[in-house]
Amino acid sequence: MTHPTEPAASKRRTFLKRAAVAAAVPATATLLGSGLPGTAFADGSPVLPDYAPIPSASVGPGLNEDGYFVGQIKGNLYWVTDSYYQAMFLTTQDGVVLVDAPPTIGHNLLRAIDKVTQANGMPGKVTHLVYSHSHADHIGAASLFGKDVVRIGHSETRRLLRIDADPNRPAPTETFDNRYVLKVGGERLELAYHGPNHSPDNIFIYAPDYATLMVVDVLYPGWVPFKSLAVSQDIPAWIKAHDVAMDYPWTTLVGGHLGRLGVRADGQIQKEYIADLETSTRKAMTSLDPTPYFQKYGPSGNSWAIFKTYLDAVAEEAARPVVAKYTGTLAAADVYTVDNAFTMLESLRIDAGILGPFSIRP
Ligand SMILES: [Zn+2]
Repeated sequence: MTHPTEPAASKRRTFLKRAAVAAAVPATATLLGSGLPGTAFADGSPVLPDYAPIPSASVGPGLNEDGYFVGQIKGNLYWVTDSYYQAMFLTTQDGVVLVDAPPTIGHNLLRAIDKVTQANGMPGKVTHLVYSHSHADHIGAASLFGKDVVRIGHSETRRLLRIDADPNRPAPTETFDNRYVLKVGGERLELAYHGPNHSPDNIFIYAPDYATLMVVDVLYPGWVPFKSLAVSQDIPAWIKAHDVAMDYPWTTLVGGHLGRLGVRADGQIQKEYIADLETSTRKAMTSLDPTPYFQKYGPSGNSWAIFKTYLDAVAEEAARPVVAKYTGTLAAADVYTVDNAFTMLESLRIDAGILGPFSIRP
């Protein structure tokens, strides 16, 4: 197996390694080497907010000098992380089954697999690649595994990837609609589709021999969900997916993000966070008086200004008690809860029909 040795690649690895150590540096700025738009001031340096410290229980294992951590979950099942993203792999007598290929881990996936298979004596070639869903941030390094690898995913994943036509994400060669049992070299993974949630094609990957569930962009062990409730396309179904996940008898969860694995208490606390957010958003919608927003922007006919300022104010109000409750328990509660509240608010408006000042005119 070849590793990139040219100066550019090793320079980038050193850069990523440093970036990983400085955990507070946002991923976009770090990985793209650019500042965030709209925050640069006259001297060119961005003015960035301070946030609450990350609780120690939310932090995963330290990274090696290449910028990744690889660990055994149980038996032949392993996981790898760069502290931003996660992948899982199964070593078997007939080759490796890899689930997801996050581009930020990239060639470190090959290094991690080499390291593990050299130690346990199993063949190191990746023969099967499972896609959790079509999104490039989780499978954008899929092309690293060559043309011969068997690519397995949901039929909707294939349809979406054919539309995207991204050379880094070849479409699955094997697809399924509801259930698929993958047996390779004496090992087994159970893939299941339970309907749309974060994306229309997001699947559940269960390793029954190791009581491990991988489901991506639903549960975030130790952290609040990523911006706007994991930028999910179907919020009610994404919330239901929490229960679908908890109905599996797992003891270890691979969530696809951040630096550590999950335990069942992580799923429980995220369910509570979502329930609190919903309660708080419903309350803010009824308690916040919309009159000032209509008075300020109505006369000039700026309808969007009414929507923006009123809905933003509801989201701020809804987030306040949730941030207070979870800061110190869930990492980045103060980073993403306002965005999460806004998405909850929009879902309550458009999915549940709770329209507040924009409901049926009397
Ligand atoms: Zn995604």
